[in-house]
Amino acid sequence: MSSSQYLIGIDVGGTKITIGLYSPTCELQQNYRIDSGNRSAADIEFDIRNAISELAKIQSSIVSVGISSAGPIDLQRIEISPVNIPGFRKFPLGAIVLDQLARNESKPKIAIQGDIIGMARAEISLDSTLQTSSAFLVNAGTGIGGALIANGKVLTGDTGNSGYFGHASVTFDGPTCKCGAIGCVEFYAGGSAMVSRAIENGVTQPITDFAELNSLAESGDQAARRTIEIGASAIAQATVNVMLINDLSKIICTGGVALSSEIFYQKFISDLALRVRPHAFLANLTVRKALLNSSSAELGAALLAREVVFSS
Ligand SMILES: [Zn+2]
Repeated sequence: MSSSQYLIGIDVGGTKITIGLYSPTCELQQNYRIDSGNRSAADIEFDIRNAISELAKIQSSIVSVGISSAGPIDLQRIEISPVNIPGFRKFPLGAIVLDQLARNESKPKIAIQGDIIGMARAEISLDSTLQTSSAFLVNAGTGIGGALIANGKVLTGDTGNSGYFGHASVTFDGPTCKCGAIGCVEFYAGGSAMVSRAIENGVTQPITDFAELNSLAESGDQAARRTIEIGASAIAQATVNVMLINDLSKIICTGGVALSSEIFYQKFISDLALRVRPHAFLANLTVRKALLNSSSAELGAALLAREVVFSS
């Protein structure tokens, strides 16, 4: 890549979409944030087109676009159907971005990956030990996801949806999740799901989001605390299942819920330790928080965009 060739990284999450312009060495130049919660697809598309157009005015030579998106995603069509954005079903994000850039006279390459895979790509770029080891990146936020790292690479799977473990079951005869599956970890541990569980568990104070639930738990509300701890136990069990299947003992944790709630994070750590104990080959369990915050999926998208240029 020449120094005048620029990249765009896009991160699609349940509450926000961020779109950043990156240098050829993946340094952020400028980015835009678009709210994605409770808005129509048409309104969001309007904002996406505006942001792309503004970034293309700053640098006219956009050679590649990378997208990190909450799943499920369609790798070939570059369409997204994130569970937490009901307005987006087979939403043709790739076609929209390419169309807008064509209007700004750029014809870039484009590729998509799961958002947690994007975070893992960013983590690998910052932690050199991941070049020679295996790890599982767990994201506990509005939604739950994961990514498997092995020797500097992220496993993407046959359809790009590897690590979609928020909708892996931890209760085979449990309740039906909004995705339609039974006993999903996200039913118990998702940030917005925990608000619903809290009300079922007897929380009587009005709460609208996880931050309010966590404040209530910190102030001593036992039903609120129990709800958060059940969520942390559910994701700990799901994580141990992944560790068992893949024989890996390094866990990296991120996401708005895990990073904002010590009650959740401490319970997650203690439950992981408890639940790996019967399995001697996992005795070297290590857990740490991710090196970057929630912006890492956007950086991961820019890294994907750069990889696409170099691999072609
Ligand atoms: Zn589910």
